[in-house]
Amino acid sequence: CGIVGYVGPQSALDVVTAGLKRLEYRGYDSAGVTVQADGGLATAKRAGKLVHLEKELGDRPLPAGTTAIGHTRWATHGGPTDANAHPHMDNAGRVAVVHNGIIENFAALREELTERGHELASETDTEVVAHLLAEEYSVCADLAEAMRLVCRRLEGAFTLVAVHADEPDVVVGARRNSPLVVGVGAGESFLASDVAAFIAHTREAIELGQDQVVELRRDAVKVTDFDGAPADVREYHVDWDA
Ligand code: GLU
Repeated sequence: CGIVGYVGPQSALDVVTAGLKRLEYRGYDSAGVTVQADGGLATAKRAGKLVHLEKELGDRPLPAGTTAIGHTRWATHGGPTDANAHPHMDNAGRVAVVHNGIIENFAALREELTERGHELASETDTEVVAHLLAEEYSVCADLAEAMRLVCRRLEGAFTLVAVHADEPDVVVGARRNSPLVVGVGAGESFLASDVAAFIAHTREAIELGQDQVVELRRDAVKVTDFDGAPADVREYHVDWDA
């Protein structure tokens, strides 16, 4: 339902949880975050309101990091449980992904992945994306390219945002029939399903077009289509107050 991603010098977890709070008005049933830290990924996720996630983060703090993604879920496939909350990971725990929307061909992809030995840990349509990203990454070692390859296989509506343990300070996003906006700061970058999540930090925004992938770094935003062709981006100024 709500998505936030951040890469920059601030505590990524603080930026992402504050961003998720700004999106609470949309309604949700679970929440979760993944932070890149110490060469790996650390995740916390909980059914229920953000206060439950915050309590979990208080009881079992995640390591500090400067790159993170977060999600508030409105369940469509699989009940509102801790296991079904996003982010979802591959079996090695090296890639994490959050998703808004519905992957319509998830059942066929799930079957295919199971046949190749993947063990799926949730009932969501989303989790297949984490496993597919891991497979593609193991060949191309480029998260944005892995995302493009995976998106070409997905049907339905999706905003996807992912991080990989082997690509520090990179957040990758993609969209089809579901919104995704980039926030361009000074030495920091944001991704969100709604500009409300980051206008406390920057009002320079780029709206992703249909079937586009973005690779986000502290000082760089690279947008392509699903085939890898560079896309024109138009930065605009958000002048309304949230
Ligand atoms: N279809 C996904 C799920 O049920 C994402 C739902 C959402 O948009 O929050 O987990």
